[in-house]
Amino acid sequence: MTEHVHRHHHADMLSVEEARDRILQAFETLEPACMNITDSIGLVISEDVYSSINIPPLDNSGMDGYALRSEDVQSATLANPVSLRIVGTVPAGHLPDFVIEAGEAARIMTGAAIPGGANSVVPFEETTEAEGFDKSELRDIGIRTPVKRGSDIRLAGGDVTVDQKVLQAGTLINPSTIAVLASLGRDIINVYRKPEVAILSTGDELIEPGLSSEPGKIYDSNTSGLIASVIAAGGIPKPFGIVRDNLSQLEKKISEAMNSDLVVTSAGVSKGDYDVVKDALASRGILNFWSIRMRPAKPLAFGVLNDEKLAKVTPLIGLPGNPVSSMVAFEQFCRPAIRKMLGKKSSLRPTIKATLTDHIYNHDGRRVYARVKIVNEAGSYTATTSGSQESNILTSMAYADGLAICPEDVSVKRPGESVTVIMLNWPEEMI
Ligand code: AMP
Ligand code: MG
Repeated sequence: MTEHVHRHHHADMLSVEEARDRILQAFETLEPACMNITDSIGLVISEDVYSSINIPPLDNSGMDGYALRSEDVQSATLANPVSLRIVGTVPAGHLPDFVIEAGEAARIMTGAAIPGGANSVVPFEETTEAEGFDKSELRDIGIRTPVKRGSDIRLAGGDVTVDQKVLQAGTLINPSTIAVLASLGRDIINVYRKPEVAILSTGDELIEPGLSSEPGKIYDSNTSGLIASVIAAGGIPKPFGIVRDNLSQLEKKISEAMNSDLVVTSAGVSKGDYDVVKDALASRGILNFWSIRMRPAKPLAFGVLNDEKLAKVTPLIGLPGNPVSSMVAFEQFCRPAIRKMLGKKSSLRPTIKATLTDHIYNHDGRRVYARVKIVNEAGSYTATTSGSQESNILTSMAYADGLAICPEDVSVKRPGESVTVIMLNWPEEMI
């Protein structure tokens, strides 16, 4: 059973949905860009795609075999083949320069144009050719089966006809979509362009991975994690590195970062030290500092930066500094924004129902996103917490497959209870 929490009232906090709705209002689908079809995987088509051709362009053979007139072979049997005179061979890609008359047949390859006069194809397997005659000696061929008119003929336009709308604007491009575009003769396609996402990490304590460690310093994990998250969400990361807790340096970097579709900062938005970030942001635009009714990732900054030189406004999402908080907040707020800019219809991850094997605690009436490992046991999923749930414990995030939700008004989820899990990754091994 779950216990309900009545002690905490968070009138000053925004729900995850309220915050996300407000954030998404600041984003539009970006303008289209033209690109090579093979570069367009995962993007969304911004045009209705019509065909200027029939596919296939001509009636053609579905088999390697003999093109013939079905009426000539109605009496054929295995024991008493009907003999037809071979008048030519049609390879794929070459138009026949003869027609089939009564009593005649043509050797034909898969995809080759059906010669005039022929109305069906009999595969080699159903002819005496299957018995291994020397092809150069073949002048006649024995057909061992009757065929229906049209048998093994693929009709012109059977897949796509001239002027057909083949793909609609809004279609998500997968490998088959790319193959279809190529089949239409297209090598380029208009898609909603990828957003450029500027990434700034703030903090005097940070050093770059690759450098030797220093006393009192920690490696900047947010920049790398956010670069990867932006790529995984379909955006183009523009890393600006580490910015010190210093007003003028922060202002300078923010000015540079404005030339992007979204600026994502990490740290400096919690109670302790948000003044520097707050002042820097305030000098460049209109920012709100929110408390979100979620754990991890309560503090969040959101607003728009105003660039008079570029005559544009750029949305900024200020993520909390703790490594897990920054990733969970990215999931909830940045990824949906990136997907909206890409023109994707759904902005949220798929969820599953799983049976919890241990406890998820909710101390203070916020929605808990617990890091869990998912196992498929005989067709149903179990969720087990992947380590400590403190917002600085990054390894438990790396070991997790998803985020299990303990709702705002539930103080504990117990073993055996059902939880909704937001799937962060869904490897085949888990299915
Ligand atoms: P802050 O919001 O600046 O108080 O940061 C909260 C916590 O997150 C502190 O423990 C910071 O050291 C840590 N933190 C901030 N930025 C990063 C980062 N880029 N990588 C790793 N940890 C960070
Ligand atoms: Mg800091």
